[in-house]
Amino acid sequence: MAKYDFDLFTIGAGSGGVAGSRRAASYGARVAIAESVRVGGTCVLRGCVPKKLLVYAAHYAEEFEDAAGFGWNLGARDLDWGRLIQAKDRELDRLNGIYINMLKNAGVTILDGRARLIDPHTIELGGKRYTAETVIIATGGWPSLPKIPGIEHAITSNEALDLKALPKRVVIVGGGYIAVEFAGIFRAAGSTVTQVIRADRILRGFDEDVRQFLQAEMAKKGIVLRAGEQVQSIEKTATGLRVFVRPGAAIEADVVMYATGRAPNTDGIGLEEVGVALNKKKAIAVNEWSRTTVPNIYAVGDVTDRINLTPVAIHEGRALAETLYNNNPIKPDHANVPSAVFSQPPVASVGITEAQAREWHGAVDVYRTSFRPMKHTLSGRDERIMMKLVVDRRTDRVLGCHMVGADAPEIIQGLAIALKCGATKKQFDQTIGIHPSAAEEFVTMRDKLPDPQAKAAD
Ligand code: NDP
Repeated sequence: MAKYDFDLFTIGAGSGGVAGSRRAASYGARVAIAESVRVGGTCVLRGCVPKKLLVYAAHYAEEFEDAAGFGWNLGARDLDWGRLIQAKDRELDRLNGIYINMLKNAGVTILDGRARLIDPHTIELGGKRYTAETVIIATGGWPSLPKIPGIEHAITSNEALDLKALPKRVVIVGGGYIAVEFAGIFRAAGSTVTQVIRADRILRGFDEDVRQFLQAEMAKKGIVLRAGEQVQSIEKTATGLRVFVRPGAAIEADVVMYATGRAPNTDGIGLEEVGVALNKKKAIAVNEWSRTTVPNIYAVGDVTDRINLTPVAIHEGRALAETLYNNNPIKPDHANVPSAVFSQPPVASVGITEAQAREWHGAVDVYRTSFRPMKHTLSGRDERIMMKLVVDRRTDRVLGCHMVGADAPEIIQGLAIALKCGATKKQFDQTIGIHPSAAEEFVTMRDKLPDPQAKAAD
């Protein structure tokens, strides 16, 4: 008889947990997965998928307007927000069903409820105890809000995805991925949007040109940015909410949405009690094999706070299953991970920023272009595209590709392959472009920007 009820017990059925569990089961492991909310996790139910559906909806606002420049006669149009949310919910139900079926078809046992570690090999859920040889923690993260007076009146992206009606006045606090994405959605849908950021620019960590360029494009769309300000308190009024950014300076709003980062879900699952160490940010500390300080317990995805992106969690989950159940040891690879921000216009990047390149590689060549896309010659829209390449002068290798503009995520995904292969600028130059496209600019950039270091030496 088997020593344990399961070979693998995964806590959390989000992107990383599901991917690792299915892959492990495909190699014959007896797998159980526990989920306390709904199978699918943040990406499918509260993040990437519903957000992107709302981004699609938002894009129509400008598409309709742009069509006029191409001869289309436009009739009356307005957004039925309630119908959009219903349609989005139907799609999420469908995906939730698909995820459940995928797990069942792979032979994974799904357990509904909140799991808690009792010892390294024992998990309690719904009053029952299960034993497993190996445990994967994949419990993800949750929005984290500062404790200021009135914070209970604020919502997060979780609730923003389920609003029954479109708010007229929205205040968004934060300047990261989620904040700029929702600023774009609400603005295009017709709300007035004020974004409050404590820094001077949005999107910390992205290339400086990207940050500046997107900020300017968002301003053109009417998003009001209040930089260098901190919300002090939020008050309920007869007509909505009042957001104090300084004593005496307040913004009136119907909805205040906080997007001030996410915290790993590590509370109340028995981690520290069984000896799983957490880092300073309360994320699970793991080694390069995703192993925690307890040898039979592993962790993948946002709960480890490495790179908090769905495809990375999936990669970590699958790498672990390959290592443990297919005699195919794979360390998750976190180099040159592309990412996108579905702002309006979108941003996408792969590789490192110009500032990082200067710090880590010394001599760097930078190529940058900004232009009005062909579509807007007829639409008349004042929207531009920015593209940038960061190149190591010594080796000619392309270290970073950055773009702000329509289709940036679709374009950068292809360039991520080139970077993974170690492509040089010369190889970019040797690549024939697709004409007419915006993407071709990435293989036709000729002129380097003046070198600020050489200038400083003059
Ligand atoms: P981010 O970490 O991206 O950004 C947090 C923002 O909140 C920053 O602008 C930060 O400001 C600000 N902030 C933090 N604390 C405070 C505070 N106390 N008061 C005021 N402002 C504060 O977090 P998000 O919530 O936007 O997203 C979480 C993660 O989810 C992302 O890091 C990303 O990995 C993932 N994600 C990915 C998406 C994608 O791939 N498209 C989409 C959405 C999320 P400052 O810059 O000054 O520190």
